[in-house]
Amino acid sequence: MIRINDILDKVAETNPEADLDIIDRAYIFSARVHDGQTRLSGEPYLMHPLEVAGLLADMNLDPVSIAAGLLHDVVEDTHASPEEIETIFGREVQHIVSGVTKISKLPFSSSQARQAESLRKMLLAMADDIRVVLIKLADRLHNMRTLQFHKESKQKLIAQETLDIYAPIAARLGIYWMKNELENSSFKYLMPDEYDRIKERVIADIKEREAYIEEVKGIIHEKMDAHQMKSEVLGRYKNYYSVYQKMVSQNLAFEDVYDIIAFRIILDTIPQCYEALGIVHSLWKPIDIKFKDYIARPKPNMYQSLHTTVIGPRGERVEIQIRTHDMDQVAKSGIAAHWHYKEGGEIDENVSKRFAWIQNLVDNQENIGNPDEFLENVRIDLYPDEVYVFTPHGEVKTLPKGATPVDFAFMIHTEVGNQCTGAKVNGRMVPLSHELVTGDTVDIITSKNHYPSKDWLNFVKTVKARSRIRQWIKTQEKNRSLTLGREMCEKAFRKHRLNFHTLLKSPEMPAVVEHFGFKSTDDLIASVGYGKTTPLQVVRRFLPKMDDAEEDIPRDSILNRLMGRVKKKPAKTEILVKGLDDILIRFGKCCQPVPGDPIIGYITRGYGVTVHRANCVNALKMSPERQIEVAWTEENKETYPVKILVISYDRVGLLADIATIISKSDANIVSVNTSTKENQMVESYLTLAVSSTAHLNRVLSSLRKIHMVQDVRRLNV
Ligand code: MN
Repeated sequence: MIRINDILDKVAETNPEADLDIIDRAYIFSARVHDGQTRLSGEPYLMHPLEVAGLLADMNLDPVSIAAGLLHDVVEDTHASPEEIETIFGREVQHIVSGVTKISKLPFSSSQARQAESLRKMLLAMADDIRVVLIKLADRLHNMRTLQFHKESKQKLIAQETLDIYAPIAARLGIYWMKNELENSSFKYLMPDEYDRIKERVIADIKEREAYIEEVKGIIHEKMDAHQMKSEVLGRYKNYYSVYQKMVSQNLAFEDVYDIIAFRIILDTIPQCYEALGIVHSLWKPIDIKFKDYIARPKPNMYQSLHTTVIGPRGERVEIQIRTHDMDQVAKSGIAAHWHYKEGGEIDENVSKRFAWIQNLVDNQENIGNPDEFLENVRIDLYPDEVYVFTPHGEVKTLPKGATPVDFAFMIHTEVGNQCTGAKVNGRMVPLSHELVTGDTVDIITSKNHYPSKDWLNFVKTVKARSRIRQWIKTQEKNRSLTLGREMCEKAFRKHRLNFHTLLKSPEMPAVVEHFGFKSTDDLIASVGYGKTTPLQVVRRFLPKMDDAEEDIPRDSILNRLMGRVKKKPAKTEILVKGLDDILIRFGKCCQPVPGDPIIGYITRGYGVTVHRANCVNALKMSPERQIEVAWTEENKETYPVKILVISYDRVGLLADIATIISKSDANIVSVNTSTKENQMVESYLTLAVSSTAHLNRVLSSLRKIHMVQDVRRLNV
């Protein structure tokens, strides 16, 4: 049974200047608030925080961690509040205790193995201070040591969670003795039969094994002494769980698992380690492929050691680890022991890139003198690009940082995404664009009659959500275009006294569809709806010979001859609608935008997007939700209609001059309307086809140079 004085002694021994007062005060506080509580074992509850604090002291943690260890259960299990902790022990202790409490509440009990990795990452991501994780590990270790007092079902649940979550974290942080103990005790509760079988086999030959350990240790010692090297040699049994894993993974019988015992040689300096390696290799033949130099290339968690496997004195494989005392300390306490570590080498660049915190450790090493400061600076940001959130059933989902409830909904199921109308995060309603953070529990609210919105594309982060929303919009647009295309075709066919619906089923139809390069009649009709194919083009295929003249009745004035070929502007446009590739575009008749004009789009009901000039009065009246960003594409080969007014004194040949100038400027006249006023002024309203505002401005300035022209201007409406 550990006492507070044992803990204080341990701390004072490794860190004589340590502030023992905070540990003392934490002990008194913890004893007071836990007073009267007992554990399942019948012991006073206080034993648990004391044991946890003892483990932390063994790992050479700072007084703040040990105080937090003594207080780690007070917020959850007693009336003490975080505010109280902060007032009495300061922010740092409060922050750590709150972190431990927060992690304790995570619903880790669901034993789905595939979630284990996400849960591990989540735990590490939620603990922004490494000390939170170290306390949680010590807490779990002591709980595993006293697991026998729980019911069997509970034992299995806790053991599975320990094996899935906590043992791998201990390994990741380099605390291998803890990883071994957590694994071994989990194994004992999860598979008691297998555990007992291995234990029996080990014990059966225990005398012989002990003799063997002494023999190997003796040989090594003798050789090290001969080379004047002070060494410590340890022989230990590997944990039963790793023996079991080896038997299962390599399909071996117990007898065939040779390296049940591993040896460790601990020396003073790195050169001695390499020298010892040479000695061992001259003594016993090494198995080359088994040699690992973690001194030159430390593991990401700072672990350093030489590992070799040799054919030992009895012709069996023997695993031997060689390291310095400092390295051994690191292997015992993981990164927490780092400040004891002085003989650092170069850290592998890839390793430091993958783990930003390692780089911090290395960078801070020179500036930081004491452990307290060191630990304070170790922040856990192993997975900065991911967030981990829960479904209402406690399942973990991994999302990219910045992801929203919509991303989450599409990750659950496409239908959930499509019908998502709102979201609750940790029980509170949030906007769909709300940014999720690790630890959130997300509940999606759906409605049968709800559909994805284009706006969602502005904030979703996952590829899945983006592509599903686009796909939905595309289908919707195709449906709309189909309806519109059908209406347009019906009208055009009726005009030519044809019945579209009858012809749709006619034997000629497939050839017509093929003529336009489509696979189905629906595609052709949709194309009409999109404005890519005109209904007249379709009608024509059913009217064998059609007089072109009938289509464009020439105007009867001289102007029409001068106008030359008036190209009817095809509906195809040179407009980009943000986030959409293929959508029906129309131009506002009211303001007639021309490339170069500032423009804005409006989503219309069933007719795609209408583009207006940004200052168009009609556009300004429309509701802002329907607004969508649009832009001109770089290359414009199209021409656009634009209305202008030319004011001039009346004279012979005026209109002819105007028409000539316009034609010389590569623009076309679409329509003309002139009126003569009483004051002998002529107002000519023209609609021109131009390619851009620059083009229009060139035309306008040429027109201004015409004799007797007073004013030329573009009309807004
Ligand atoms: Mn606890």
